[in-house]
Amino acid sequence: MAHLSPDTEVPKCFVPDLQKRRILVVDDEECIRAVFTVVLQHEGYEVATAQDGFDALLKVSQFVPDLIISDLNMPRMSGFEFLSVVRRRFPNMLVVASSGAYATGVVPIGVLADAFFAKGQDQTEGLLNSVANLFNTSAARAACHLAESAPVWIPRNGKDSNGVPYIVITCTDCLRSFPLNVSGEQNSEVLETLCLFCSSKVKYIIDFSRSVSSPLGRRAEAFPVGSAPRTGVSA
Ligand SMILES: [Zn+2]
Repeated sequence: MAHLSPDTEVPKCFVPDLQKRRILVVDDEECIRAVFTVVLQHEGYEVATAQDGFDALLKVSQFVPDLIISDLNMPRMSGFEFLSVVRRRFPNMLVVASSGAYATGVVPIGVLADAFFAKGQDQTEGLLNSVANLFNTSAARAACHLAESAPVWIPRNGKDSNGVPYIVITCTDCLRSFPLNVSGEQNSEVLETLCLFCSSKVKYIIDFSRSVSSPLGRRAEAFPVGSAPRTGVSA
């Protein structure tokens, strides 16, 4: 008579794989999310996706990824800002920034990421190598993250109804967003303000190269900082 011995192997598919590394892919382009998902799942990673920074912050708390691959140029909350919040709130998390706006191989200055993927230039094989490399060095990287101070990067949003320029800051402690009027004279230094909701000190840098609500809709890459023609839009 057949019976189960203590040595009988449980079929693998019924055992939840607690060893599987989790990766969150954040990109506003659906085709990029789809391609990265297929490639990463093929390597054995568990993958979730988000379409912008706000969506990603929700997914981070539910899915709890080990690593995030985030686009830098997204609507609503830019990747710069999202990654600043991630580094502050989840310092152990590994981050790969991706963008089509920078040269290959190097993490752009000010971007809080462990590696960089140049969309449209780097091969997905390079991305997989970066991911594997980060997982191999994750402990040392987490220690470095904790030692860094992480300012929030925010794009210049535009002007309010009185013509005063304003920015929108997301508090790195309570994650609520609030507007702040700014003078036109500030440059790219790290500044500080208190959160309207929880009074935490929030460090921020204004990213003058991007104006989200530019009425001309031109892309920041087309006009390097300082060279944009005066139109009355920028202060
Ligand atoms: Zn707050």
